[in-house]
Amino acid sequence: MSHDTTAPRAPTGTHDVLPPESSRWEHFLARFAALAERYGFGLVHTPIFEDSRVFRRGIGEHSEVVGKEMYEFTDRGGRQLALRPEGTASVVRAFVQHRPVTPWRAWYATPSFRYERPQAGRYRQHHQVGVEALGSDDPDVDVEIIVLAQRFFESLGLKNFSLAVNSMGDAQCRPAYVDTLREYLRGQARVLCDEHAQRFELNPLRVLDCKTSACRDATQNAPKLLTALCESCTAHHERVVAGLTAAGVTFQTNDRLVRGLDYYTKTTFEFSSHALDGAQNALGGGGRYDGLVESLGGPPTPGIGFGIGIERVLLACDAEQVFAIAPMPPVAFVVDVTGGEGARDLVAALREKGLYVERAYDGRSMKSQLKAADKSGAACALLIGSEELAQKSVTIRALREQREQVTVTIESLLAGVDATGEISW
Ligand SMILES: [Zn+2]
Ligand SMILES: [Zn+2]
Repeated sequence: MSHDTTAPRAPTGTHDVLPPESSRWEHFLARFAALAERYGFGLVHTPIFEDSRVFRRGIGEHSEVVGKEMYEFTDRGGRQLALRPEGTASVVRAFVQHRPVTPWRAWYATPSFRYERPQAGRYRQHHQVGVEALGSDDPDVDVEIIVLAQRFFESLGLKNFSLAVNSMGDAQCRPAYVDTLREYLRGQARVLCDEHAQRFELNPLRVLDCKTSACRDATQNAPKLLTALCESCTAHHERVVAGLTAAGVTFQTNDRLVRGLDYYTKTTFEFSSHALDGAQNALGGGGRYDGLVESLGGPPTPGIGFGIGIERVLLACDAEQVFAIAPMPPVAFVVDVTGGEGARDLVAALREKGLYVERAYDGRSMKSQLKAADKSGAACALLIGSEELAQKSVTIRALREQREQVTVTIESLLAGVDATGEISW
């Protein structure tokens, strides 16, 4: 046995979230939860690993996610499992399994896993929040979902972002369009980027959102899906456009918006930050997936949802200097130079009354405790010396303002907290 004494680190592409940054995460999640619940979404937890078929069938065998990026493994019982690479397929699998009454609205917050080259704002374990609305193909649902995401970004204080909307058509009109596009691309095959020169036959739509200038140029005059939509897809798209306009949401129609997962039908949308680098600027997006429930073994059920990347959105917040959450300091810091019993009991009593208070430990000196009190950001120090201990009292000293210190009995201090909810003096 060799002795490896190096300290293990978080795996490549993962990161720890520690205070005070984690306090932003708490606020982020609480804000998303409150908004999602206002729109009728209930929280859903699903396992972070699933039968691989959930993603193979749901996302598509030929997608980049399944083909190159999914963490798959065989467990000790020989089951083929995969770590969740995105949020939607698991929620839909749960829907198929439990058959809740429709329309059904679920929101989630989850890590998701992709074996990608780590870059700024892109991780092998990243985190997202999202919603899924199942059981209605009413375009007004599409509008509500998009508006919910828009309002969430606005509530964080983000301004420098934009929304692109497209329609991917459906089983009625897309196959014919894909054939037309494939035919067109055959004529361009020599000028496509390396990846798509080989793969365009398999999934021609992906060439439309390829970021290379080769593919962009080659598709400049490609036939447009929006003009090839069938009557019902056109009507759906027009109603979505009208709904977003009525909600006062600014957006562009972008017929290059072909999201990476195969399950989308009709509406797709994406929010991009202009405060972030081009290739890594997607804050979130989603779309309608009217065939997904069936592909996972359920009855034909329309659905739509979105996912929002937490790390990416927080990066955009940093870039725009918004949503800087400062953790709340304690309301008071108890300084006890009589052995600590007074601090122990007073801190316990104040916490039971709902206040956030701190104290020092390890029998440190008065000077050291006051320094800690000051550093904590507390508004006041509650001093317990031998006199205070004998009289069951405490001396209140302001730490953030010039003010005469006062000594009060602990009984009246606690009565004051009962009456006002704070330490008042
Ligand atoms: Zn390409
Ligand atoms: Zn159609």
